[in-house]
Amino acid sequence: MTAILLKSPEEIEIMREANQIVAQALALVRKNIVQGISTLQLDKLAEKFIREQKAVPAFKGYRGFPGSLCVSINEQVVHGIPSKKVKLREGDIVSIDCGVKYKGYYGDAAITVPVGTIDQDTEKLIAVTRESLQKAILQVQSGNKVTDISTAVQEYVEKNGFSVVRQFVGHGIGQNLHEPPEIPNYVRKERSPKLMPGMVLAIEPMVNAGTADVRILKDGWTVVTQDKKPSAHFEHSVAVTENGPLVLSSGTED
Ligand code: MG
Ligand code: MG
Repeated sequence: MTAILLKSPEEIEIMREANQIVAQALALVRKNIVQGISTLQLDKLAEKFIREQKAVPAFKGYRGFPGSLCVSINEQVVHGIPSKKVKLREGDIVSIDCGVKYKGYYGDAAITVPVGTIDQDTEKLIAVTRESLQKAILQVQSGNKVTDISTAVQEYVEKNGFSVVRQFVGHGIGQNLHEPPEIPNYVRKERSPKLMPGMVLAIEPMVNAGTADVRILKDGWTVVTQDKKPSAHFEHSVAVTENGPLVLSSGTED
């Protein structure tokens, strides 16, 4: 699949509903982020809520992924597997990525949340990552290019002394969880697609406190920073409209 699929206003409305289920699931998880809770407990809370909304957790079973959420702590960047053995501790940061399928369409969003009091540098890492996503969303304008989104993220992150992950990128979203185009968080030299009304983009900066290098753990999923420094992740699904960006997963902010 190479073509970028445009969505009708009716499809975008269904995708807004799907993404609002994601946003509400994330809000529920955020409320339950306390020292001592296991990442599997968070996963179960989200799954129950999602199914009550007549939606399906999108990640569960995706290429064999066992969880409804990806829960990634500290140096884990993305794709952490929920586990009853992993309990949150004061001073951790935890990235929660949630996807659902609803009426045939996907929603996808992520937040990073502190557990209790965290150190100032890590607080700044979370703030800069969240702000880089806001800068990216401002570039979601018909006639701009995907690379304008990438530039906004990379410039803001690097100006603040952090680095953007290269190996994982944002994506188009619709009746598939991942569709063209890729939305890198860094500038690529190649030609970049033009943004058009009807495109829906999952924009997801992954920002490392140290270097950009990452590796995958032996579990085959969990992505961690090479230098073991912390990493943060925020994601919104955003539609391109004639009137600028429409954030379908709005409401995940604290
Ligand atoms: Mg996601
Ligand atoms: Mg995504």
